[in-house]
Amino acid sequence: MKLTPIIGLEVHVELKTKSKMFCGCSADYFGKHPNTHTCPVCLGLPGALPVPNKRAIEWCIMIGLALNCDIPLFSKFDRKNYFYPDLPKGYQISQYDQPFAINGSLKLKVKNEKLKKEYEKTIRIRRVHQEEDTGKLIHQAVNGEKVSLIDFNRSGVPLVEIVTEPDFESAEEVIEYLKKLQQIVRYLGVSDANMERGEMRLEPNISLTPRISNFQFPISNENLPKYKVEVKNINSFKFVEKAINYEIIRQTEILEKGETPLQETRGFVEVSNSTVSQRTKEEASDYRYFPEPDIPPFRWIKSQISNLKSQMPELPDKKLKRFGKEYSLSPSDAEILTRQREVADYFEKAVNDGKKFKVSPKQISNYIIHKKPNMKEVLPASLVQSIVQSTRVADVGEDKLRKVIEKVVKANPKAAQDFKKGKENAIMYLVGQVMREFPQRIDAEKIKASLLAKLK
Ligand code: ADP
Ligand code: MG
Ligand code: ZN
Repeated sequence: MKLTPIIGLEVHVELKTKSKMFCGCSADYFGKHPNTHTCPVCLGLPGALPVPNKRAIEWCIMIGLALNCDIPLFSKFDRKNYFYPDLPKGYQISQYDQPFAINGSLKLKVKNEKLKKEYEKTIRIRRVHQEEDTGKLIHQAVNGEKVSLIDFNRSGVPLVEIVTEPDFESAEEVIEYLKKLQQIVRYLGVSDANMERGEMRLEPNISLTPRISNFQFPISNENLPKYKVEVKNINSFKFVEKAINYEIIRQTEILEKGETPLQETRGFVEVSNSTVSQRTKEEASDYRYFPEPDIPPFRWIKSQISNLKSQMPELPDKKLKRFGKEYSLSPSDAEILTRQREVADYFEKAVNDGKKFKVSPKQISNYIIHKKPNMKEVLPASLVQSIVQSTRVADVGEDKLRKVIEKVVKANPKAAQDFKKGKENAIMYLVGQVMREFPQRIDAEKIKASLLAKLK
């Protein structure tokens, strides 16, 4: 029996707003002394009322727009009820049936290393919704006694959840998607999506299905396997790959015995690169979702959404295409330069500064890609100067240079005489005259050396 993996992803991204989702506490909690970024709202004290963070909601919608989603003109928050010590209210404010963004898509270019082929694939985005983070449990020993401590600094930090349809069939595709999603939220400037800091958390849902003859993605709902396994809270691309590949093997063994894997939530164990059962999966009804009564629903007007759209920066795919066209860069160079928005911006500043020195975009691209300048220290204009100074005569050709020097010396007999009589300055005048004969900047030292040889 040939089986195909079917994978859907849930990704949480922490927004880097100044304040938390529903209170004025600073959301910049990482590494801060426990329970110093708290107030009655994010501690869930009775009577405290949430006030939604406008910036966070705008950013959530921007993520939706960047993922080609529709933005429904009506939306609301809901309460997701469950008990856990890191959730002091006993519920999380989230969105259930009317999220801020739905029905998007993201186009991927996937490289299959084994088959040495590259293909395109579109992943459907089911929804992008806004919610809040929980506190953090810390299990440790105090005076020899094992205790659990709670830090509420993270409680109420804005989280955006991005849910795909089950459109992936390999860890490779998943990782390509995750890289692209991370790149997009960084471009938007809404999250650093740093996984070691828990700013981006990954949950793959995995199942396997027999590959019938006319099988193809996207898979219709009725053809989906009747079970799925969710692996919770993974914090690196490498681990997500390991978790998926482990699940594929584990579930294959069960299916080949003629049994069906249990629908459950599992955790990834880093030391053994495996997953272990945590709990059999809860149903939506277990959460007793209902509309958040303390926050009125949202009714957008179209101009608010188009206004947000107009504030968005140029996104990676578009920039990549433009760089290729506008600066005649190879696709792979354009890809490297647009990986990070800071690098792309730096490149374009340098291109602009380089115009008056006849330094080409290609020269700047080569310099950035191969010499990897420290962009925090070297200004784009200084980089242009380095290129001007290092441009070799070899690019012109020794013969051509010799001919030009002869011509310039002939045309400027007085300067040549002056130099021979000991006027050092005269040589620099001749160097300048030689330079003017070339469309591109060439190394002054090299010209000077050739001139000296000629005039000796
Ligand atoms: P739940 O209600 O249990 O959260 P959803 O249907 O909302 O489940 O889907 C959650 C995630 O699981 C989505 O990313 C979805 O694409 C994915 N998913 C749904 N069915 C499957 C399946 N059979 N195999 C793998 N992933 C699935
Ligand atoms: Mg879920
Ligand atoms: Zn607070």
